[in-house]
Amino acid sequence: MKPKALDEARSRMVQEQIDRRGLHNQRLLDAFLKVPRHLFVPEEAIEYAYNDEPLPISCGQTISQPYIVALMTSLLDLHGGENVLEIGAGSGYQAAILAEMTKTVHSVEYHAALAEGAQKALNGAGYGRVQVHVGDGSLGWPESAPYQGIVVTAAAPKAPHPLLNQLDDGGKLVLPVGARGRQELQVWERRGANFTHESIIPVSFVPLRGEYGWSEEQWPLSL
Ligand code: SAH
Repeated sequence: MKPKALDEARSRMVQEQIDRRGLHNQRLLDAFLKVPRHLFVPEEAIEYAYNDEPLPISCGQTISQPYIVALMTSLLDLHGGENVLEIGAGSGYQAAILAEMTKTVHSVEYHAALAEGAQKALNGAGYGRVQVHVGDGSLGWPESAPYQGIVVTAAAPKAPHPLLNQLDDGGKLVLPVGARGRQELQVWERRGANFTHESIIPVSFVPLRGEYGWSEEQWPLSL
């Protein structure tokens, strides 16, 4: 696809999939207009980069549907100065969107190969300031805590308490909670020692692994 066609597809994505579905925040829309999503999908999928659907990346994982990335980002309610943690770098796309919306972004990825690919894509697209770490993100990333926002892009059995503990006062944790085929998107907010949460919509994500995630026996990837 030619650069002009990609730009047009990206504008259409923002208008039809994000703005028209009720997410009107201009900073959010600008971030999605700016980040070249096609640089974060496998080469053979470039023509589908701006489609209204998730796409397969490597290691059996997926880059989420644009609307879901937008919804999760909007639920963090970012104003530009926050320190944000993402769990599940995958392609690096969500991290690039976060980098457009705030100051500091850390992302933890379980698969070293994906982490390497994500950092490369981020560097190539001008988001080299995002730091991708290899590790078990169900434990968070204590070194850079506290975070004003944490977003998890894989489904957890329940909100992992290390992530809640690494939230700053007033900070928000956005994550899919549940098993294969029945998950809900939850938003948690910390107020001092108190945590409240609400459910937003049903969603469908790949499993979170690691200590506070699903085991391969509980949720095999092939299913
Ligand atoms: N945010 C990604 C979506 C990736 S899919 C994007 O924009 O492309 C979810 C990712 O979570 C996968 O890459 C998977 O490897 C990763 N993951 C699963 N369990 C994890 C864990 N415990 N710690 C960190 N990453 C994890």
